[in-house]
Amino acid sequence: MISAQPTYVPRLLPLRMPRVCVAVTGSDPAEMVDKAESLARDNPFLEFRLDYLPRPALALAKIKRFLDTHPYVVAIATCRRALSGGKFRGSVVSQLNLLAKASAAGCQLLDVELQTATKCKPQQLQKLRSGAALILSFHDFRATRKLEETLQKMLAYPADFYKIVTTATTLSDNVVMMKFLEKQSDKHSLIGLCMGEQGIISRILGVRAGSVFTFASVSPGEETAPGQVTAQDLRSVYRIEQVDAATRVYGVAGDPVTHSLSPVIMNAALRRENVNGVYLALHAKTLKDLMACVRDIPIHGLSITMPYKEAILRHLDNTDSHTTKIGACNTVVRAQDGKLYGFNTDTAGVVRPLEQRLPLDKAKVLVLGAGGAARAAVFGLKERGAEIWILNRTAGPAQKLARRARARSIKRADLKKLTFDVIINATPVGMGNGRESPLNENEINTRYLFDMIYDPPETRLMKMARERGAQVIPGVEMFVHQAARQFEIWTGKPAPWDEMLRVVTITLQERAAAKNAAKNGTKKR
Ligand code: NAP
Repeated sequence: MISAQPTYVPRLLPLRMPRVCVAVTGSDPAEMVDKAESLARDNPFLEFRLDYLPRPALALAKIKRFLDTHPYVVAIATCRRALSGGKFRGSVVSQLNLLAKASAAGCQLLDVELQTATKCKPQQLQKLRSGAALILSFHDFRATRKLEETLQKMLAYPADFYKIVTTATTLSDNVVMMKFLEKQSDKHSLIGLCMGEQGIISRILGVRAGSVFTFASVSPGEETAPGQVTAQDLRSVYRIEQVDAATRVYGVAGDPVTHSLSPVIMNAALRRENVNGVYLALHAKTLKDLMACVRDIPIHGLSITMPYKEAILRHLDNTDSHTTKIGACNTVVRAQDGKLYGFNTDTAGVVRPLEQRLPLDKAKVLVLGAGGAARAAVFGLKERGAEIWILNRTAGPAQKLARRARARSIKRADLKKLTFDVIINATPVGMGNGRESPLNENEINTRYLFDMIYDPPETRLMKMARERGAQVIPGVEMFVHQAARQFEIWTGKPAPWDEMLRVVTITLQERAAAKNAAKNGTKKR
């Protein structure tokens, strides 16, 4: 009869186990252990992915030396078989041999997949457990389903930790995983999370639902599972070590949201103002899915982005007057009674940078575009007494907006005759490579040029306006001001504007540098 009692090792382990385990890979043993060396100071919990090595056995002496000289490090040895989603092509016997040697080298935890366990004799698993704690793992690379049933199957094999990793295809899958963890983690030591871009909620909040720890990657590009976040981001952006039952959850919801700057800026603001909150990128394929999460997680505040700024309105209990007029909402607050209120902070994003520079009463403003952002600019500036002209690619929406806002719509041919205090670009022309411009040089007759585009940070329109002597207001200012207003609505605190601008500027510079490096790399090849 095999004992289901944990050995002495796991009894002590949870006391020493941090929340974040960093998965370490390498193309050879030296690279893997060098990485571990450089990680160890800030990351005392590492997983050696032996299956990533062509000859894993050759790494064990190096791992032993590393663990001997870093006694505070807790290490998992994993040699996942290809059949279970890993890279190891050897037999079950050779997998178990390698894990036994990893245990002898000092790894305190060994990961064995359920598929392997089903092929082992109970004594073989028990032997592994005599020197290390056993993590019995199960991965579903397609969906999040049958969690209870899977756990019941796994419990037939005595282990110290049961790890269930699934794939989120909706945001609600995270809720399924977290409810499962909440229910079962009192009875068993569980590690649970969802893979995939949509699994971010469970990667950050799983630990408070009962997952003993979560996994992180060393750096972007070194993920061992889809959707894995870097250890650095888990700690410094999402502050995972501080996430607890009282942590409020906020997020940006849209489709897509992968490249959104909002998590960086909002988490920086929450950290600076000591707000116990975390802000996530929520890739919502449908609003129905998103709204279910708002209720179940619950989510306290949302930034709404494309394509849901208009469609979200019918899910809200009330909206402020700006939002109603503009017909688009970019901010949702969940009140204590669960009711949802909508705001539009794009208006503040346009008005605030301008009123810092010039009096808006009677200012002559040309708005390019007639979409959601243009409407926010038009109504916000009109309220401040500005005179507005609207130019749009398609005449109909410009005329309609002009009628509703008591502004004027104009044709492009009229531009050369007019001068403005401000020209605002509220079209996407100039995004991406930044080479296009919605106006020609001789049409830029203005004191201030405000381009809503922030990526790239300098568009062709901005460059031409500078050359014509106009002062340029970059789109990043709008981005920061609209985000700052959201922060104020959610927290009731003044937003740390300077910190928000600082982190967003750095992030944009880093992205531009990475893009250039990739471009140069491609050219060289
Ligand atoms: P939207 O609702 O889709 O409206 C887009 C507007 O641009 C429409 O008026 C459209 O004209 C026009 N347009 C689109 N493609 C065009 C082209 N190739 N040539 C000329 N006009 C074109 O988008 P939105 O939400 O208003 O956003 C507009 C821009 O503002 C985007 O670049 C967005 O990134 C930016 N924005 C920035 C911030 C910030 O924080 N900095 C916030 C919000 C938005 P038609 O009517 O003819 O289609």
